[in-house]
Parts: sequence; structure tokens; C-alpha cells
Amino acid sequence: MQKDNIYVQLNDVINNHQAVYRMIKIDYLSQVESEIQDLNSKGFFDKGFFRERLTSFRFNPPDDFNNAESVLMVAVPQPALIISFVYKGSEHPVTLPPTYDQQTDRAIMESVEGILNPAGYRLKRARLPEKNLAAHSGLMRYGRNNIGYAEHMGSFHRPAAFYTDLPCEDSQWIQPEMMERCLKCKACIKACPTGAIGEDRFLLHAERCITFHNEHLKEIPEYVHPSMHHCLLGCMICQKVCPENKDFVKWVEVREHFSEEETLCILNGIPYDTLKSDTRKKLDRLSLTEDYNLLARNLGLLLTT
Ligand code: SF4
Ligand code: SF4
Repeated sequence: MQKDNIYVQLNDVINNHQAVYRMIKIDYLSQVESEIQDLNSKGFFDKGFFRERLTSFRFNPPDDFNNAESVLMVAVPQPALIISFVYKGSEHPVTLPPTYDQQTDRAIMESVEGILNPAGYRLKRARLPEKNLAAHSGLMRYGRNNIGYAEHMGSFHRPAAFYTDLPCEDSQWIQPEMMERCLKCKACIKACPTGAIGEDRFLLHAERCITFHNEHLKEIPEYVHPSMHHCLLGCMICQKVCPENKDFVKWVEVREHFSEEETLCILNGIPYDTLKSDTRKKLDRLSLTEDYNLLARNLGLLLTT
């Protein structure tokens, strides 16, 4: 395959997913690592947040891919999901915000591998700070709520990063920008119930964010009142009020229905391996298998408080 042609094909397959992408040279990864370390050394991150969320990135390709030359950053449009649980005889629709559905990563990966592999190139999922890379590559801009916004998708997308040995021909590396609208808008600051979005600085006070707390099993602090939880994982309050999302905020897809028996198994924290196969399949289709241990508490907060 002609080299030019492979870039055209790459463009076409990603466009077929209505996704957007950028490629960046792998050399830039050390800059991202330094930026994170620098912010940490200046005390911008809560210690627990830094340890839990920012130390698991790998800024070098794996040993079996040391000839990787580029990082392919992709943002795939993604709706909020509505999952139905039956509890005490009634249906309870529960929201899972955009970004949790990992099926889109697999779909993109398969499509891109379909053109790279026959041409002798490889692709491998990367564990990198996707939002940061996407902002540097120009794929997204930050909102004041520190969420990444992509053109024609708002925050309704899922970013994914992949290593590839396909050389990067057109790499841009810019300083991350906040959306212009954020200069005059305070909607998310006013709406955030925990005060995580400060006027004192651009960086989110992530240790106050509901998402941080309901994505791990540690005790939830008192200032995150149980009534503030409204999603199975994460939080949508600042995304819902954001004017940049006005065209996307109603984009929801109804997916999966859990019977009362299944709901009770989840609420009671029945070990994943002992769930019925059908229940496990539903959780897998929702990309909730890895987070299963959080669901008993989180679903309980939504259904029983
Ligand atoms: S709500 Fe306003 S300030 Fe917050 S991210 Fe959206 S546009 Fe920016
Ligand atoms: S996700 Fe929720 S808690 Fe976190 S900043 Fe946005 S509104 Fe606040």
C-alpha cells in the first residue's frame, strides 16, 4: 500500500465512526509527564488524587513495541446511557455518563488495525493522560470544569490513545486552551454542588469532585451528600448546564435492563463470578465489569437513599 494512501484510509475509517483524531510524535510524551510532575511539585494536586489517578500512566511504549513512533488520539462521540433497574417492583432509570462505554475503543481499534496491519504497521492501546494529550494536540479544548470538549461533540465523547509505528506526518503541539465561552460563563461553577470548580484557579479541585469519590471504594466525605449522587458512576451536573453541550445534552441511549433479581444481586454485592451469565454479559456490554465492585454502593445510593 502506498504510504500516502494509508493516511487517507486512516482518515476514512475514523470518519466512518464520526470520530475525530490527531497524531502526535511520541517524543512529546516526556513533556506531558514533566507537566504533571511539575504541577504536583507545586502542590496543585491533592495527594490522594495524584497517587490514585496520575501515577498509573506509562509514558513509554511497552517493551514489545519500542519502535512506536506516534500516538493516535481519537475522540469518539458517545451518548449518556440509561440503564434500567427494577427495585421494589418499579423501574428505575439510572444514568451512566458519556466516556464509560469502552466498546467504542474496541470498534475504533478494529477498524484502524484493519488498515494498518495489512500495511505492516501496528496499533496498541496506550495508558496515557488522554485529555491532556488531546488538548495539546488540538483535538479538544478544556472547559472550566476541566472536562475535554471536542468540536461537534461537546463533552459527549470518549477519548482514547493508541501507540502506533505509523510515522506521524503532521504533528501539532499547542498549549492547552480553555474554551473562549468559559471566560464569560460561570454556569458550571454555580451548578457544581461540591465547589470543585474554583474561581481561584483553572485546575479543578479534583478531590472535591463527585466523580473522584464514586469511582473508588474509599469512604465518601460528608460534603458529598448522598443526595448529590445521580449517576451510576461519575457526575453530569456541570456537563448538563454547560451551554457548549446544548446540542448534545439530550443525547441518551437506553441500554440494558436488569430484573429485580439481578438488581438485588448487584445491590447485595454478590461476587461477580457467581452472577448469572446473562447478568455478566449485560455488565460487560456496559463496560462495567472492572467497576463491578463499586456498583453495590453506587446503585444503593441511587435506589435506597
Ligand atoms: S458551563 Fe460555562 S464555564 Fe463551564 S465549561 Fe461550560 S462554557 Fe465553560
Ligand atoms: S463532575 Fe460534578 S462534582 Fe465534578 S466538577 Fe462537575 S459538577 Fe462538580
